[in-house]
Amino acid sequence: MIDLDSTFLTEEHRMLRGQLRRFVETEVMPAAKAWEKAGQIPAEAFRRMGELGFLGLSMPVEYGGSGFDTLGSVVFGEELGRSGFGGFGASVTDHADIAAPMIRRNGSAEQCARYLPGIIAGERICALGVTEPGGGSDLIRMKTSARKDGDSYILNGQKTFITNAYCGDLFVVVARTDPEAKGATGFSIFLVEKGTPGFSIGARFEKTGWQCADMSDLFFTDCRVPAANLLGEEHRGFYLMMQGIEHERLSIGSQCLGLAERAIEITLRWLKERPAYRGMLWDLQSIRHDMAQMSSELAAAKLLVYHAAAKKSRGESARMEATMVKALVPELLKRAVDKCVQLHGGMGYMREAEIERIWRDTRPHSLGGGASAVMLDEVAKLL
Ligand SMILES: Cc1cc2nc3c(=O)[nH]c(=O)nc-3n(C[C@H](O)[C@H](O)[C@H](O)COP(=O)(O)OP(=O)(O)OC[C@H]3O[C@@H](n4cnc5c(N)ncnc54)[C@H](O)[C@@H]3O)c2cc1C
Repeated sequence: MIDLDSTFLTEEHRMLRGQLRRFVETEVMPAAKAWEKAGQIPAEAFRRMGELGFLGLSMPVEYGGSGFDTLGSVVFGEELGRSGFGGFGASVTDHADIAAPMIRRNGSAEQCARYLPGIIAGERICALGVTEPGGGSDLIRMKTSARKDGDSYILNGQKTFITNAYCGDLFVVVARTDPEAKGATGFSIFLVEKGTPGFSIGARFEKTGWQCADMSDLFFTDCRVPAANLLGEEHRGFYLMMQGIEHERLSIGSQCLGLAERAIEITLRWLKERPAYRGMLWDLQSIRHDMAQMSSELAAAKLLVYHAAAKKSRGESARMEATMVKALVPELLKRAVDKCVQLHGGMGYMREAEIERIWRDTRPHSLGGGASAVMLDEVAKLL
C-alpha cells in the first residue's frame, strides 16, 4: 500500500515502526498460532512487549511511557494488524491504547502512580467493560449500577463480550450511579481489580475469529469497590469515555489497515506464483483490476487515517475524520479480504491458509467500539 511515512511521520515514528515490525515478524507471527490454541496471549508476551516499551507509547514518560502522539498509536495499530492475527492486535490495543488511556486521562495522581507503571510494563493487563446483554449500541440502556455506601460503591450487574476478561487483572467498568438521571448523565467509571469479592468472570466465549483475544462476561454481585477507585468525576462517566473516542476509532482503523496490507501482500504473492492458463493468475486482467481497485480504495482510507491522526497529534479535534474512519475502514477491510479469499480459490477456505484466518478476523472491527451504522449516524450529525 502507499507509503505515507515521509509525509506524516518523524524519525522517531519511523524507528518505532521498524522496531514493531521486527518484533511482530520474529516474536509474534511464529508464536501466535499457539496463542490462538490457548485462547489468549500469554502473560510473558505482554511482559515482553512491556520490556520493549510497546505498551506505554502514548503514556507520560514519568510512568515509564514514551509520550508518543496519535500518529504513534496509528503506527502501533497498523504494525500489530500486519501480524495477520486480528485477536492479537485487539487484545493488546484494548489493554494499551483503549482501557489504559482512560486511566491516564481521568485518573488522579494516586491512581496513575498506582496503576500505570504496571500497565506499561505489561505486568497488569486492562480490559474495558461497557457492553451489556441489553445492548451495546444504545449505551444509555446500561443497567449495571453502582450505589454509594460510605467510602465504597456497591456494583451490581453484568457486562458482556469483554475482551481480555481472562488475561486481564484490572477492569475499567462503566456503571450507572444516578438512577434518576436522564440521557447520558448519571454514569461513572470504576477501576475493579480481579479478585474483588462479588466480581466474577463467566465462561469463555467461543468466537468465530480473534482466537488469541479471550472474551467473557463480567458479573457484579454486591461487589464493593473503594470510592478511591472512582475514575474521574462522578456521574460524568459517559462524557469522560467519549473524550477518548477519537483515539479508539483511529486505533481500530489502523489495525484494519495493517490487516488489509497483510492480506494484499499474501494475495499478490499467491497470484504471482499460481500457474493458470498460459501464465499465472496474476496475468489475468480482471484479477489485476480487482487488486488495483482494492489497493486504491485502501490507500485513500489510509490517507484519511493518517490525516485524522495528524490533526489529533497537533491538538485539533478530529471527531468527524475519526468517526468516518471507524465507519469506512472496517467495512473496506471486510470487502477487500473477502475478495482476497475468493482469489485464493478453494485454498482460501482452508484452515491452513493465512487468508482464511484474516477473513474470520475481519468481522469484529465493524462492531466493537461502535457498529458501522452507529458511526454513520454520528457522521451524519456532524455534516
Ligand atoms: C470480538 C468483539 C470484542 C468486543 N470487545 C468488547 C470489549 O472489550 N468491551 C466492551 O464493552 N464491548 C466489547 N464488544 C461489544 C461491542 O462493542 C458490541 O457488540 C457493539 O457495540 C454492538 O452492540 P451489540 O452487540 O449489543 O449490538 P446491538 O446494539 O444490539 O446492535 C445490533 C446491530 O444493530 C445495528 N444497529 C445498532 N444501532 C443502529 C443504528 N443507530 N442505526 C442502524 N443500525 C443500528 C447494527 O448493525 C448493530 O450491529 C466486543 C464485541 C465483539 C464482537
